[in-house]
Amino acid sequence: MEFKKNDMVTLYIEDMGHDGEGIGKAEGYTLFVKDTVIGDKVEAKIMKTKKNYGYARLMKVLEPSKDRVEPRCPDARACGGCQLQFLSYEKQLEFKKNKVKGNLERIGGFENICIEQVIGMETPWRYRNKAQFPVGKNKDGEIITGFYAGRTHSIIPNTDCLLGAEVNQKILEAVLTYMKENQVEPYEETSGTGLVRHILIRCGFKTGELMVCLVINGDALPKADRLVDRLKDIPGMTSVTFNINKKKNNVILGDKVVGLWGQNYISDFIGEVEYRISPLSFYQVNPVQTEKLYGKALEYAGLTGQETVWDLYCGIGTISLFLAQKAKQVYGVEIVPAAIEDAKQNAERNGIKNAEFYVGKAEDVLPRKYEEEGVSADVIVVDPPRKGCDEALLSTMLKMKPKRIVYVSCDSATLARDLKRLCAEEYGIEKVAVCDMFPQGVHVETVVLLCRHRSRLTRI
Ligand code: SAH
Repeated sequence: MEFKKNDMVTLYIEDMGHDGEGIGKAEGYTLFVKDTVIGDKVEAKIMKTKKNYGYARLMKVLEPSKDRVEPRCPDARACGGCQLQFLSYEKQLEFKKNKVKGNLERIGGFENICIEQVIGMETPWRYRNKAQFPVGKNKDGEIITGFYAGRTHSIIPNTDCLLGAEVNQKILEAVLTYMKENQVEPYEETSGTGLVRHILIRCGFKTGELMVCLVINGDALPKADRLVDRLKDIPGMTSVTFNINKKKNNVILGDKVVGLWGQNYISDFIGEVEYRISPLSFYQVNPVQTEKLYGKALEYAGLTGQETVWDLYCGIGTISLFLAQKAKQVYGVEIVPAAIEDAKQNAERNGIKNAEFYVGKAEDVLPRKYEEEGVSADVIVVDPPRKGCDEALLSTMLKMKPKRIVYVSCDSATLARDLKRLCAEEYGIEKVAVCDMFPQGVHVETVVLLCRHRSRLTRI
């Protein structure tokens, strides 16, 4: 039978796709149904059909799966942020483990992948240290803040995202009151008029320091002292700033930050290392899991104090400085010059003298240093963005023959592709760990240890 848009179907959810959507069959026709989990029997309405599969919208759960849980957030379905909130946390971890294993086997061509550990959170809520709330108006013209509904730019009012810090709500309400009382208008995307675009909040989990930065479509914030008055007495408030972004695009932050009260940065710790975080700095959003992830990377690096380590894609030097505590010398490479400035400052503030940083593409810097200066490495750590490593980098890594390679990845598909290349000859996968940095969401971090002349666990 041919299905068409708006047809109602009943189906069992048998599988889950990479983005957390349920997959089932109606009369042999595969349908993707968001907000469902394996084991659900549901009624769904067909929204879009293609030749071999289609998309349907969940209308009613007829028989819930034993793994289905009541979402804690009332906006879980509308908001695009938490794709897995309907699934028990235990099963979320299993989903992520299987996703990594599946990619390593299917794309990487490895067999018998054994995931040593899945590092979950004890409390998989309120883990984010950073939140960016868009500001706009509702149908009645009232100023609101919240989240974009999945794949759109319409704002669902919600000041208490359960992934963020509890204090966010108080801050957001203070900002909204300031705006209403002083006729400060929110930015309006289609016309490009109005002022306040986003409210950025960052929170140092270990230090308790708070930062509020209003992203504005202008050069000044009217009656800014009244905003400061509302914010400065919130316990932990350390930094109130605004950021200028007059561009008509989807990038949240502009380049310029102007201080209004306190410092222009906050501090936080990962392990013993202190990091300075400004509104523009990249910093991992889940500090509790970051510490566990870096702990795993450090364990896999197997340092004794004698090693030369290269940390490629080093950002603000977070992993580099963590490793420097146990290595002889660490070299970090990162493409963003401002991040390297932060990395150098972070090294200095922590009295770390055995870390050096270079600006540039990892795939340019490492091959050049190797060909021209003959640099060597006992351990190489890579933590690339989703697209993975460049071939020029992988081939130089192989030429350098480090004892160990530690690959930290936020995308297990490109990880699998790169590992296939690295393991073609002398290297083998020794250990794999999965760390859940984003509970309730579908993303997952993986750490892999590769050793030279070892292929104990796997072969191609
Ligand atoms: N290891 C860091 C950052 C990882 S995110 C941490 O844990 O905090 C990946 C980083 O790679 C980003 O900082 C990004 O700016 C950087 N990057 C992207 N492409 C790059 C390239 N070709 N060469 C070097 N760095 C790159």
